[in-house]
Amino acid sequence: MGATGFAPGRLYIDGAWTESSSGERRGVVNPADASTITDVSWATTADVDRAVAAAKAAFEDGRWSGLSGRERSRILFRVAERIRDRAEELAQAETADVGKPILFTRMIDVPTAIEQFEYFAALAQTIEGAARLAPANAFSYTRREPLGVVAAITPFNFPLILSSSKLAPALAAGNTIVHKPAEDTPLSAVIMAQILEEAGVPAGVVNVVTGAGAELGNHLVAHPDVNAIAFTGSTTVGQKVAMKAAEGFKPIMTELGGNGPNIVFADADIDVAVGAIINSFVYNTGQFCMAGARLLVERPLHDTIVGILSGAVGNVPLGRPTDPGTVIGPLVSERHLERVEAFVERAKAQGGQVVAGGERLELDGGYYFKPTVITGLPNDAEAIQEEVFGPVVTVQAFDSEEEAIALANSTRYGLASGIQTQSIARAHRVAAKLEAGIVWVNGWAMLDPSVPFGGVKHSGMGRESGPDALLNYTRTKSVTISTPAS
Ligand code: NAD
Repeated sequence: MGATGFAPGRLYIDGAWTESSSGERRGVVNPADASTITDVSWATTADVDRAVAAAKAAFEDGRWSGLSGRERSRILFRVAERIRDRAEELAQAETADVGKPILFTRMIDVPTAIEQFEYFAALAQTIEGAARLAPANAFSYTRREPLGVVAAITPFNFPLILSSSKLAPALAAGNTIVHKPAEDTPLSAVIMAQILEEAGVPAGVVNVVTGAGAELGNHLVAHPDVNAIAFTGSTTVGQKVAMKAAEGFKPIMTELGGNGPNIVFADADIDVAVGAIINSFVYNTGQFCMAGARLLVERPLHDTIVGILSGAVGNVPLGRPTDPGTVIGPLVSERHLERVEAFVERAKAQGGQVVAGGERLELDGGYYFKPTVITGLPNDAEAIQEEVFGPVVTVQAFDSEEEAIALANSTRYGLASGIQTQSIARAHRVAAKLEAGIVWVNGWAMLDPSVPFGGVKHSGMGRESGPDALLNYTRTKSVTISTPAS
């Protein structure tokens, strides 16, 4: 155990805990105080090759894909139970590793991982084919089959939730997996590998390699024995991954960046709207692909909302993530803090007025940035067109429903969006016109494992959660049997 109680992480390959072939280990940093929590093995491409070989062998001999859906389901329900047993440990790890407030790792991250496994454990029993219209004297049916070896590549911001939302459906469908978590936040992936092992997922079915993203990720995506890619991360890296996957015609699911519009109409319930607005950009310190980072307010309400927000955001508890009352923790790393700060400086240079926040909070040497509200930016400003990925919201006024829709659709992203209104007719009308994979009405981030999640445009393709996710991890085979009349 390290000084903070987290065991050093090793690679999990073919059911064995091993060191990197280079012997290299790297420290894992706590963003709340820049201390080193523990260290993890830093894998090489040779380790990736070992992991892929293990996953391929496990797929081909049917130790997992050959089980019935019911048998896989039983094991996946056990995974959910073991997460429940180790909930506090996982919550503490996620808090130390990412800087997420313990309030949320206990209340959201760990329960969501449990729900993902329970939901897909249930769906594992429902994978079925269909009888199809056949030519004369023949019988046709379809089979839904697993894809094979899936490379799961996950980002730093929701390590446990996003790995669970890939592992649970991929496993339910019968695939085997090589998981590469983000460099900065590998801890929960290592604990999850222990949990999968304890729950009875056979050796080689899930393999975890921790290490450098560009080197390992690139190698994994290009590997000839990797059959499909499930990637969550930035649009820039997602584009590289998609191009590499295309060379091998590999199915790919990409969950990428976002810069969500949150549209507040003048008829909105102000209390509900303000709650949704604050939640939409401070949650996870704004390191939130679904952040409502672009607030669009109908002109009669604009000044009122800006006034309320600029007073209220300073009262949202910002501080040490281990304090049970903290709502906003630090950003994940010093590099990311500098990036967010630079975005705000450039926004000011482009004419933005910072009406709240806009600066660091000095605390324990951690990477804290105050929730920030920026008004007065032109629509082509960088902070409106690009993803800041920090606790920063821009506010723009609009005069008509058409203008709100045009502004909402004016970036290259299309992940989450919100409509705050008391008119149900308007909610349906505007929801249909938004270029987004997700629309929330009178709230924000209302999620469930049964509700499909994903983006359009540069926010990615494919859906996680819901039956759609299970379909993503299977493919259709058609079988037609000749049935001669005599
Ligand atoms: P990132 O793109 O830097 O890294 C994502 C993962 O890719 C990491 O595991 C990284 O090590 C790996 N990687 C890096 N270079 C690679 C390469 N060349 N080939 C293959 N893999 C490579 O993203 P991040 O900074 O960890 O996460 C933040 C980004 O993720 C934001 O843009 C955010 O919007 C996005 N995100 C999207 C969703 C969603 O569901 N749409 C959810 C969470 C985060």
